[in-house]
Amino acid sequence: MGSLAPLLPGTVALVGGGPGDPGLMTVAGRAAVEQADVLLVDHLAPAEALAWASPDALVVDVAKLPRGAFTPQERINELLVEHARAGRRVVRLKGGDGFVFGRGMEELLACTEADVPVRVVPGVTSSVAVPALGGIPVTHRGLVQGFSVISGHVPPGHPASTLDYAALARSGTTLVVLMGVATLPDITATLVENGLDPTTPAAVIARGGHPDQRVVHAPVIEIAARAAHLAPPAITVIGEVASFAALSAVSAATADVVSHTLEEVI
Ligand code: SAH
Repeated sequence: MGSLAPLLPGTVALVGGGPGDPGLMTVAGRAAVEQADVLLVDHLAPAEALAWASPDALVVDVAKLPRGAFTPQERINELLVEHARAGRRVVRLKGGDGFVFGRGMEELLACTEADVPVRVVPGVTSSVAVPALGGIPVTHRGLVQGFSVISGHVPPGHPASTLDYAALARSGTTLVVLMGVATLPDITATLVENGLDPTTPAAVIARGGHPDQRVVHAPVIEIAARAAHLAPPAITVIGEVASFAALSAVSAATADVVSHTLEEVI
């Protein structure tokens, strides 16, 4: 029962699809996909998961690609409600966890405001899983007692930025930056200007969990230049734990977790 209870007609399931490897979807996420009459999917959700859907299911691509065609969030909200009101079992499948930079609560509120029953199926968030797939723990006993996950979408100094980079620089936590490929030079420079040691280990993991995953590691002061050739989606990890990326690359020959990582040791 609980998250495995049958998905009833006229209901919506907001499913976190994990970072891209279909094996990292939850059992409840897969069950919801299998029962769906309609799936509204993002580009970061595992494409292979659609093979679990009924051949009769309607699959709608609502990806929001930078500079590409996209479906506005308001329209996605409307589609969820419209399909549910038509008596369909609706699955909203997106990458990672829907409540971590995923606009999941906006979709949940759209459903509840329309009196559409809605279920949340949490997903494996890339903010923790992608560092792990790159051989990096976000915490490590004796080394770091916390981690901060930030969006790099709005660069430091931008009027819309609400992040306190001075506080982040001295937080003593591992910093995990999502959506920060274009803004990484700005972000790392700002952290160093605010007192972060420029030799702090850092790593960028691109396309974590995909066969073409890449990991680049370098001191924070150099990481943006060294990783400039990597395309999104990518995550940057800044902190002492990032040095494990280098260590695990050396010893990874037998380790499943990173055996498919094409390591670019700088
Ligand atoms: N809700 C998602 C995050 C959405 S924001 C979650 O919980 O994972 C999108 C950002 O997630 C990307 O810009 C990138 O920083 C990160 N991301 C998602 N999947 C990734 C992957 N497979 N590899 C690297 N980064 C990923």
